[in-house]
Amino acid sequence: MTNEAYWRRDKSAVWHPYSHITEVEAEPFPVIVRGEGVYLFDADGNRYIDGISSWWACNLGHGHPRIVEAIKRQAETLQHSMIGGLSHNTIIELSERLIAVCPTGLTRAFYASDGSSAVEAGLKIAVQYWRNVGKAQKTGFASLEGGYHGDTLGAVSVGMVESFHSVCRPLLFDTHKAVSPNCRQCPMGRKPGACDIECFSSMEDILAEHHDTLAAVIVEPLNQAAAAMRIYPARYLSRLSALCQEHGVLLIADEIAMGYGRGGTMFACEHASITPDIMCLGKGMAAGYLPISATVVTDDIYSSFRDQPHADRTFYHGHTFTGNPIAAAAAIETLKVYEDERILENMAPLIESLASHLSAFADMDMVVDVRQVGMVGAIETDTPSDPTFTRRVCTETRKRGALLRPLGNTLYLWPPLNITHQELADLSEILMDSMLQVRRT
Ligand code: PMP
Repeated sequence: MTNEAYWRRDKSAVWHPYSHITEVEAEPFPVIVRGEGVYLFDADGNRYIDGISSWWACNLGHGHPRIVEAIKRQAETLQHSMIGGLSHNTIIELSERLIAVCPTGLTRAFYASDGSSAVEAGLKIAVQYWRNVGKAQKTGFASLEGGYHGDTLGAVSVGMVESFHSVCRPLLFDTHKAVSPNCRQCPMGRKPGACDIECFSSMEDILAEHHDTLAAVIVEPLNQAAAAMRIYPARYLSRLSALCQEHGVLLIADEIAMGYGRGGTMFACEHASITPDIMCLGKGMAAGYLPISATVVTDDIYSSFRDQPHADRTFYHGHTFTGNPIAAAAAIETLKVYEDERILENMAPLIESLASHLSAFADMDMVVDVRQVGMVGAIETDTPSDPTFTRRVCTETRKRGALLRPLGNTLYLWPPLNITHQELADLSEILMDSMLQVRRT
């Protein structure tokens, strides 16, 4: 069956997320039928580099034989068994391995399926923690302007990307929003790298005034990714961690996008040598093979949930597929592959390669800013007045063999972490040629 034939069937039955229906219906798009390495293949046999790791999840590309095998093995042995009041060997092994790689001090893993649900759990854990320790008035949250933490209502309340979520505003709870450390357009008028993080004063003011009622601050460490890759200094995080401790407010690090190596270290928090109180993981946890997410917490938080005489402190929260064995097996194998294939160690030269490719984009007339953290490269174009430009570029990259999606007038590369130098060069070349082509037309 061809792309076009599939597309006709798709049009009559599938509702696509984050997609304009008019565009979905306007013309055929690739219908992916297979993946191998960094490549996806469509029904017409076209091959594409997965330039954004399929929504930032497939850090090890596609069809990795070890993960496929682990999934098969687990499916044959035990496909599902709940972990409410009992356990299974796979989730025990995953938890031990996960905690071993998390920043020191994080000792318990709670599971869900998607990033948003890991965030919801994190918010509820924070609120119940304070109730457990006798400070039930601490139910508020602070976060950063432009932050994105998922599409469920709690996650949207602490996130809130106006253009995505304004329609559900009546359903959200109020939160405090600190000025974003948006170095590209510094809110304090400073030059990147030549500042003392003056924007941090906004967070300081919020905590000084509201710490009595704040349960937690939640941030995406190092990079507000959905806000078109607002990459900010690790110093912001170290100061935030100290500030939260000073005021008795929990820090939730949403590592759903940046965790699992994207920033060049296993977790972005490591850049600032901090241990958050709660860390949310998702996306890359099972390398995009199956949905699994986790909310990892400190012993202090976990212990506060122990029942006291006449006080039920149970965390009444859990989804049907919490701790699903097949997803857990994929997550275990992902950690083993990271170790055996030295994914983090091998990234250093790849990060340098990406930097050198990006420098070529910086020389282009139509580019106003290029930024990078780890294996994230963002290229901001001068086209805010033509929102279709970057979308047309991504249509062009498809013709040339790469799948990308823009964020406003920013194009970005977020490839699998085990991409080869040659594949990365190909991806960069496809993007550059496509930008030049669209600018000409
Ligand atoms: N937090 C961050 C930082 C994210 O980037 C995302 C997804 N883009 C989420 C949370 C939500 O994850 P999910 O889409 O799996 O619910």
